[in-house]
Amino acid sequence: MPIEMLERFDRIVNQRVNKLLLNRLEQGYRTTKYPNVDVNLSKPYRGRPEINFEADMITMKLCEENCPQSAIIANSEKKALNLGRCVFCGECERLSDGKFIHFTTDFSLATATQEDLVLCEENVIPKIEREINGKIRKLFGKSLQLRQVSAGGCNACEADINVLNTPFFDLSRFGIQIVASPRHADGMLITGPISKNMKLALLKTYEAIPDPKIIIAIGSCAISGGVFYESSEVVGGVDRILPVDLFIPGCPPHPLTTLKALIDYFSKY
Ligand code: SF4
Ligand code: SF4
Repeated sequence: MPIEMLERFDRIVNQRVNKLLLNRLEQGYRTTKYPNVDVNLSKPYRGRPEINFEADMITMKLCEENCPQSAIIANSEKKALNLGRCVFCGECERLSDGKFIHFTTDFSLATATQEDLVLCEENVIPKIEREINGKIRKLFGKSLQLRQVSAGGCNACEADINVLNTPFFDLSRFGIQIVASPRHADGMLITGPISKNMKLALLKTYEAIPDPKIIIAIGSCAISGGVFYESSEVVGGVDRILPVDLFIPGCPPHPLTTLKALIDYFSKY
């Protein structure tokens, strides 16, 4: 190649590299400072619901009857909202004008048991008790590899898991990574209501993960069947066929809900 051509090629490459570096410098540091600083999400985001147990029974019954997910119980003995069923459509807030159920912007929604997902007078805030899983944190606190399995999800849950790998959320700074093979994984992130077609694939993936392993159900579909909960074509909830360690509600859960749940449950952070 003549020397002039090489010089020209070199000049073009340098210009492009300089442009890229300049662009990167201009962008600055984009990763969220969460969890070192608090993050306040704004409306219309619907996070943790607050229930007014003193609301009038007619309003409560109206919400119970119109909830598309049968997630509300309202009778003289019990008033409750099942976060594992709820798809955060906001209908109950609209019908009650916020007087029975009001959605806050608190994105902390995950729990370690199905029972804790049922908000009622004795359990108003979903939480993960850090002391319950010392062994898991000891094993996976600094390095956790997860295989994601979409078992019939609509792709919204999957997309919001995907963004955790972007520079903004940067999941890997907590030692957590999504891996391609179950043989390299410590556990599974499962989305979707487990369609019949996906059940065998899900069970095979579970078998391929070495012990000890952890299972995380993400989204109302994976927790309870979600919008498919009455369908005979789905299993309708991961814990019907596998032991679940962590439940992350939402439809889909906000990436911060998932990030907070993973940090609270696994990370030594
Ligand atoms: S927001 Fe949840 S509880 Fe309220 S109506 Fe919708 S699905 Fe039911
Ligand atoms: S929980 Fe909602 S967003 Fe997630 S897969 Fe089911 S329908 Fe889609």
